[in-house]
Amino acid sequence: MNVASRSLAAAAVAASWLALLVVVALPDGAVVRQLQEVALVLVTTTSAVVTLLAARPRGPYRTVWLLLGLGLAGYAGGFVIQFWVTAGEGGGPGGLNWSDVSSLLLYPLAYAGLLALARQRAGRPDSGSVIEGALVFTGASAVALVAVAAAYPELLTGGVLSIVYALAYPVGGFTLLLVTLTGLSLAGGRLDRLWLLLLAGFGLMTVGDAFYGLAAISGRFRYGTYLDVLYTAGPVFVALAASTAPALGAAAARQWRASSTVPAVMTLTALAVLVVGTRTAVPPVAVEAASLSIVLAVLRTTQLFAQGRALERSREQARTDELTGLANRRHLLEAITASARRVPPSIARPLELLLMDLDGFKEVNDSLGHAAGDDLLAHLGRVLRAEAPDCLVARLGGDEFAVLLPRDPGIGGPALAARLRVAVAQPTLVVSTRVVVGVSTGHAALTGPDGDRVAHEMLRRADTALYRAKDAGSGCVSWEPGMDAGSRDRLTLLSELRLALLADDQIEAWYQPKTDPRSGRVLGFEALVRWRHPVRGLLLPGDFLAAAERVGLLPELTRIVLAQAVDFLAQLLPASSGLHVAVNLGAPDLLDVDLPATVSRLLAAHDLPARHLRLEVTETVVMSDPERITATLLALRAMGVGLSLDDYGTGLSSLGYLRVLPVDELKIDRSFIKDLLTDPACALIVSSTIGLAHDLQLRVVAEGVEDQPTLEALADAGCDTVQGWHTGRPAAAADILQALLLPRPRPPVPLPAVG
Ligand code: C2E
Ligand code: CA
Ligand code: CA
Repeated sequence: MNVASRSLAAAAVAASWLALLVVVALPDGAVVRQLQEVALVLVTTTSAVVTLLAARPRGPYRTVWLLLGLGLAGYAGGFVIQFWVTAGEGGGPGGLNWSDVSSLLLYPLAYAGLLALARQRAGRPDSGSVIEGALVFTGASAVALVAVAAAYPELLTGGVLSIVYALAYPVGGFTLLLVTLTGLSLAGGRLDRLWLLLLAGFGLMTVGDAFYGLAAISGRFRYGTYLDVLYTAGPVFVALAASTAPALGAAAARQWRASSTVPAVMTLTALAVLVVGTRTAVPPVAVEAASLSIVLAVLRTTQLFAQGRALERSREQARTDELTGLANRRHLLEAITASARRVPPSIARPLELLLMDLDGFKEVNDSLGHAAGDDLLAHLGRVLRAEAPDCLVARLGGDEFAVLLPRDPGIGGPALAARLRVAVAQPTLVVSTRVVVGVSTGHAALTGPDGDRVAHEMLRRADTALYRAKDAGSGCVSWEPGMDAGSRDRLTLLSELRLALLADDQIEAWYQPKTDPRSGRVLGFEALVRWRHPVRGLLLPGDFLAAAERVGLLPELTRIVLAQAVDFLAQLLPASSGLHVAVNLGAPDLLDVDLPATVSRLLAAHDLPARHLRLEVTETVVMSDPERITATLLALRAMGVGLSLDDYGTGLSSLGYLRVLPVDELKIDRSFIKDLLTDPACALIVSSTIGLAHDLQLRVVAEGVEDQPTLEALADAGCDTVQGWHTGRPAAAADILQALLLPRPRPPVPLPAVG
């Protein structure tokens, strides 16, 4: 039905009801009586037809209107049979006849229709709604039974059957009202136009039927009174509801929702029935219904309690990190917001947050497995909680933790960060392996509560600072206003690096010569990566390496450098056959199980002996996962690849590892060489390192040789190889090849002075 035909239908129903009202008001007479019969049939038939029309295929509430419409058709049919088929014979209120059979069809069909409506309104009811529905039904039944018993005292004394017929309509109608109420409660208790019309209709109808029942029992019933108008309100309002029903939409999708009002009122009413039952005689069945209703109320309350507890638990779970039992991100955000609100910004110390990211966790996870990684995280969670008992410690996912300092922490954020860092760095046994992880920390302090954004702002600042800390190696960095632009740059840089790794002409290996300090002869080269950025120009490893490692791009980068270095080696060797090329490796490279295979494939492609390739590893890298990395190093060593221990002297446990690591070269870190001539301690370290290395059959390389006196001192100390700006800066492969392959005036090789 479209809007026009729906209004038309509603108008027809209203008009026929009005007509009934008019003819009922007319003074009695034979013609008038016939008019009244016609009007009764007309109004009930119109209602039935309009309701059935609403049950069009695929229309909203099709089943509902079909059931109600069929019920109304039966009801209307009852009048037709009554007036024109059996012509009142044996009929009327005196005894059951076919007209009543037809009329009484209304009730079961209407109950089914109303329950279908409730169900369509809210989908499948949950157990709570069913209990509430039953509660409303039993409670209302108890009241109804008390009311009926008061109206018909015969019920209390037996003679039920004798009045069943007279009561069929009022009871049927009242039950309709109850079912409507129950349905309303099932559908979530939302009293909209649809339910309002149905309640009004069945309410008026019940009142009409009750008077009808009274009149029928005393044998005083006749048609043509205002009662006719009253009890036809049922069919009329159903038809009005059918013709004005809103389309199924949001209402249908609405979930079952406990509406406490209707069940609560019914529970109180049932209690009232029980109380009344103790003073006056009420039918036992009413007491039973009331008691049942109370039992259902208790049941529902218990259920609600359990649900409340479950809700509380799930709320708690939603704020907890499962693995560590620490607060999660949501909890942290809430806590920051609450903390910022609690104290007026004017008098408050700034709110301080530490954001911590583990260094070397990925390696543990990759090498020892996720279960081990989880163990480590749980352990570190306990460590953090123990070290910062007054703070809110949260895990934000992965290996990221956050510590929110209380308003009067007694210790500043950076100081606490230092303390936590020491605690985290304690060696831990995970799956019987000793692991050491570091931590980088971003620190943010915020004074004013910027409304709801305070938590996000704080986290963002700490995050920006954390990335700075990561880039700088472990440590704690505090957020400063200028950092934000930098963090945007870094993001762009990372995505550009991803593209650069695909582009294959932006990543370049440059080469720095390693020379004999006495003869100046070139012994080999170290490959140092450069990124020829399309806009920013030539970038050094310090500009992008840490970021690349953090996002897992290092192995890809290393593959490119390795390939270029082997290529370079292949072009180099025909000229001078003793040379080697060294490539730097990071921890992710050495945890990559394919590395030995990749290396051997590259060498085989150029038919190069492995001894011309050297790989440089720092102690810090080895320490991040000594067992696995040592295994990889042994595999590479077995292939004949040379291994250098890079940045020697800066690591944690140099001497002990020297014995077990399969290295054949040791590169003394630049920091010792720089002060070789001015700091006697450095000189001592360098000379004793050279002696020790030689005792262990290791070659020694001195890095960062920047002047001739240093070079000479190193030569005197017995250093095997020097590398530094003094003997040659890193240069592009083409420049080196050109310089080496062209006939030279005299050594050492004049190399372009680029850093
Ligand atoms: P490193 O392995 O210690 O490399 C030596 C660094 O010292 C290079 O810096 C080199 O340019 C610089 N250098 C050489 N001689 C001198 C000197 O006389 N004085 C001074 N002040 N510096 C000198 P670069 O190229 O910036 O590389 C920095 C670090 O980046 C390297 O330190 C290495 O750890 C890393 N790296 C470079 N290329 C790669 C690569 O392909 N893969 C990996 N994983 N790391 C790389
Ligand atoms: Ca190196
Ligand atoms: Ca080095």
